[in-house]
Amino acid sequence: MEIGLITSLADALPGLVWVALPDGRAEFLNRRWCDYTGLSPQEASGMGWQSAVHPDDRLSWLEYWDGLLASRNPGEVEARLRRHDGQYRRFLFSAAPIANASGEIARWCGINTEIEEKLAAQEELYARIRSDETLRESDIRTRAIDGIPGFIGILAPDGSVEAVNRRIKEYTGQSLEELKNWGTNGTIHEVDLPHTAEVFGQSIALGIPHAMEFRLRRHDGEYRWFDDRGVPMRDDNGNIVCWYVLLTEIEIRKRNEAELSRARAELAHVARVSTINMLTAAIAHEVNQPLTGIVTNANTCLRMLASDRLDLDGARATAQRTLRDADRASAVVQRLRAMFTHKELTTETVALNEAAREVLALSASELQRGRVVLQTDFASGLPPVVGDRVQLQQVIMNFVVNAADAMRDVDDRPRSLSIATTLDGPEVLLSVRDAGIGIAPESAGKLFEAFYSTKGHGMGVGLSVSRSIIQSHGGRIWAVANDDCPGSTFSFAIPCCSPPAASQASEG
Ligand code: ADP
Repeated sequence: MEIGLITSLADALPGLVWVALPDGRAEFLNRRWCDYTGLSPQEASGMGWQSAVHPDDRLSWLEYWDGLLASRNPGEVEARLRRHDGQYRRFLFSAAPIANASGEIARWCGINTEIEEKLAAQEELYARIRSDETLRESDIRTRAIDGIPGFIGILAPDGSVEAVNRRIKEYTGQSLEELKNWGTNGTIHEVDLPHTAEVFGQSIALGIPHAMEFRLRRHDGEYRWFDDRGVPMRDDNGNIVCWYVLLTEIEIRKRNEAELSRARAELAHVARVSTINMLTAAIAHEVNQPLTGIVTNANTCLRMLASDRLDLDGARATAQRTLRDADRASAVVQRLRAMFTHKELTTETVALNEAAREVLALSASELQRGRVVLQTDFASGLPPVVGDRVQLQQVIMNFVVNAADAMRDVDDRPRSLSIATTLDGPEVLLSVRDAGIGIAPESAGKLFEAFYSTKGHGMGVGLSVSRSIIQSHGGRIWAVANDDCPGSTFSFAIPCCSPPAASQASEG
């Protein structure tokens, strides 16, 4: 075939055709090649054609070319070629060796086919399939949780809401899109929101389950109490795939609890008042008799001494009766004191950390209600103490309740309560630190006095009873104002019953 015919044939082929030497220099590029790239045959000849290949693809193209030379076999590579309008489009570069009669490869020829549209269509299809799958998956999940007779939500690993079941939508009157903004759209009662956000944020950040209570707005605007529990679902590598959240309405339980604690408080008050009334009546009765005797006898004695006929024997006898009645009165008082002070102490070995943990578990919901953020720093290897476990827990409980009380009106800083134990020489020390209103200077000396209270409904007996409990354990009790921040720290120290461990670490 003559050269002209070959050239016409190459120009007519539906692709960009070329012939090159093994070093990559182009010997021939068909018209389509030049028309497509906008390069003239002169510009494209030699290594000039490379200027039309996308700079990021040149290296892989060179690797491909080296591979071809080494294999001496046809091969293909994908690379972007610049069109005359400056737009890069993807091409399949196919090349094959041209061997001469002696089998030597002196040239390579090839055809570049544009695959941009085919690839774009393929990518679009894959994207559609992927989003269909995601939709189907979330559809299946939503339908599955719709059937559960509870309030269920599914969250992404970062805590954002992915799906909620029908009951949540019906209860809140919100769509999934609206519920995604639960942190800002009043879904949770504003009073409960900061604590909820904190517990939730910590749970998501640390990948640990959470349990909390808050008020959730119903479709009609009424807030009702819910218990919220979230657990992470992990894949085989331990990565969190999603979170499952179960909400349970506890409005009735909450009301009952409030009712119960009101009833309890009233009962305790009635009990206290009636005990005091009974006690007062008993004391009045017991002491009144000898007092009446004392007054009568003293009067008789005076009369006898004042009479013209001095009756010294009679006066002596009445004075003795006065003394006898005074002794009776003092015996009554002593009996009463004995009744209150000589309570037998139950002694056992008490692990103070455990005792404190139990108290915290008992007061957990009360602390949560008061939006108190609890921190513990229990020393490990703490030796036990000998004493009455229940009484010591009474003291700890009293510290904790007082700390929560002191922070009731604090809104400009976290209501943090830290409870810590430590070994201090031969003593075990427990302290409860709060960020509350602190101790007023005029109160400082009176806190542990019986019936001293600055609270509207306080009895003022908690700390005085605590002091007698700690003293009966051979220990000390005290309170100090925090020196680095508002609030105070109440502590007690009691002797431990075994030699201190060599080193201490924190149990948390
Ligand atoms: P009550 O709690 O019934 O008042 P307490 O004997 O337990 O009786 O406490 C006596 C008083 O000590 C309280 O009324 C309060 O003034 C003060 N107090 C106790 N704990 C704290 C505390 N953590 N912060 C500030 N004041 C406190």
